[in-house]
Amino acid sequence: MSEAEARPSNFIRQIIDKDIADGKHNSVHTRFPPEPNGYLHIGHAKSICLNFGIAQDYQGQCNLRFDDTNPEKEDIEYVDSIKSDVQWLGFDWSGEICYSSNYFDQLHAYAIELINKGLAYVEELSADEIREYRGTLTAPGKESPYRNRTVEENLALFEKMRAGDFAEGAACLRAKIDMSSSFMVMRDPVLYRVRFAHHHQTGDKWCIYPMYDFTHCISDALEGITHSLCTLEFQDNRRLYDWVLENITIETQPHQYEFSRLNLEYTVMSKRKLSQLVSENLVNGWDDPRMPTISGLRRRGFTPASIREFCQRIGVTKQENMIEFSSLESCVRDDLNENAPRAMAVLEPVKVVIENFPEDQVETLTVANHPNKPEMGNREVPFTREVLIEADDFREEANKKYKRLVLGKEVRLRGAYVIKAERIEKDEQGNITTIYCTYDDETLGKNPADGRKVKGVIHWVSASKGVPAEIRLYDRLFTVPNPAAAEDFKAVINPESLTTKQGVVEPSLVSAAVDAGYQFERTGYFCIDSKDSTADALVFNRTVGLRDTWAKVN
Ligand code: ATP
Ligand code: MG
Repeated sequence: MSEAEARPSNFIRQIIDKDIADGKHNSVHTRFPPEPNGYLHIGHAKSICLNFGIAQDYQGQCNLRFDDTNPEKEDIEYVDSIKSDVQWLGFDWSGEICYSSNYFDQLHAYAIELINKGLAYVEELSADEIREYRGTLTAPGKESPYRNRTVEENLALFEKMRAGDFAEGAACLRAKIDMSSSFMVMRDPVLYRVRFAHHHQTGDKWCIYPMYDFTHCISDALEGITHSLCTLEFQDNRRLYDWVLENITIETQPHQYEFSRLNLEYTVMSKRKLSQLVSENLVNGWDDPRMPTISGLRRRGFTPASIREFCQRIGVTKQENMIEFSSLESCVRDDLNENAPRAMAVLEPVKVVIENFPEDQVETLTVANHPNKPEMGNREVPFTREVLIEADDFREEANKKYKRLVLGKEVRLRGAYVIKAERIEKDEQGNITTIYCTYDDETLGKNPADGRKVKGVIHWVSASKGVPAEIRLYDRLFTVPNPAAAEDFKAVINPESLTTKQGVVEPSLVSAAVDAGYQFERTGYFCIDSKDSTADALVFNRTVGLRDTWAKVN
């Protein structure tokens, strides 16, 4: 990563600076701990940039750890997508990939240690009873009748759980802490439950699985994590995190710090909701370009640098907030404006016939790939007697503000000549089918010799040499800023979030690479659709428009 990306400080970095200055730690070890139950989204990118960014900047380490304690919801497809998304974002994990499931033997041994210390017991109340006994925020809980079993009895019953002699829900292991704690998580939390499920890493070895709160802190300690960074909803769980580590025999003492989640307007970020959109075919898969997933943003044409820049701009605090979608878009726009080569494509074509240009002639024009960066080179663009322009770039009549082609007036074709609209032809419905023009052959790369001014410049594509392409334009996936707050988030999906155009692109785009962004002159930033585009049927996605039109609408 370049110097230009040097990251600004935040409260977590200040804590680390102090820990290092105080000699509490001499190196930093973080981790990014996704649960492999869905694809990563832009919220995860915030956590990735924070954890891996800290490791990079402090010459420390950052583990990628799959927090895989819920076998029913997890899948190897998610494991693979997460690995590739982290790497695509420009980060690499230290050492081998970690799995919480690697520690199942140790976790089991620590559970037995807690039982031996009289700090855990096998519960046989039902889930409903457990909930009822737990009490509320205002009323203390009630102790379970199974709470004071002997160590021997608990050891035997826990072994019975492990051996598969209890049905799911018939027994669980609970920590014995405090049923009247003001922190609900401390009211004898469940540590282990029975699940007869096949696990993507451990197969059928286990039928008891540890809970997140028991697993996470021990995994952190076993990996020597120094700063365990998570989102604010785990603030109360920090009591339990510390309690577990204080009551087992383990060497390192990691600390948990919480920061606020990223919330983005006009989208949802919960994996449960994203997964519903996919399974109910409301979008075309996890990597649908309208999804806030890393793979969706990638397919839409976002660059890794633009996502890292976004994470840097939003910063890391403890304040809950909602970020405008346009601030994500402006990051990719800034990146592509600087780095994307220019090309021409016509989204809604109308035919222009240049009557004084020879019928079978193809003139090869040389056009710069970037207006301010000669080092990006040139490309060849064929110019022919028939070209296509945007229907919207022609008017029969217009006032002076309209700087495009008007009947009887002149306009410049980008990188080519000045043309003049002489007459038009319409179909029976009155739609313009052809604009007949003449061109001034003295105007290639220079102004007309007689000093007359031609202000407008429009883009175009050769009709015979251009290549048809499907062009997909995207809008917000939801019609309201906070769909998660709607009664039914699926009822506020934007029915016009995808518009498809049958356009034509300049021939150089046939060799466009996947993951390469282009500015199509005057219409926005585009990329090849990595899934649906083929050599015979090109498909382009619009990443973002040239300007923030959204801000104007609101
Ligand atoms: P969900 O609740 O949608 O399932 P999650 O938080 O459970 O999401 P995990 O896979 O457990 O998803 O997340 C991995 C890491 O990414 C966690 O440390 C989590 O705090 C962080 N994370 C998840 N969502 C966000 C977000 N919106 N903003 C910042 N960090 C996030
Ligand atoms: Mg989680």
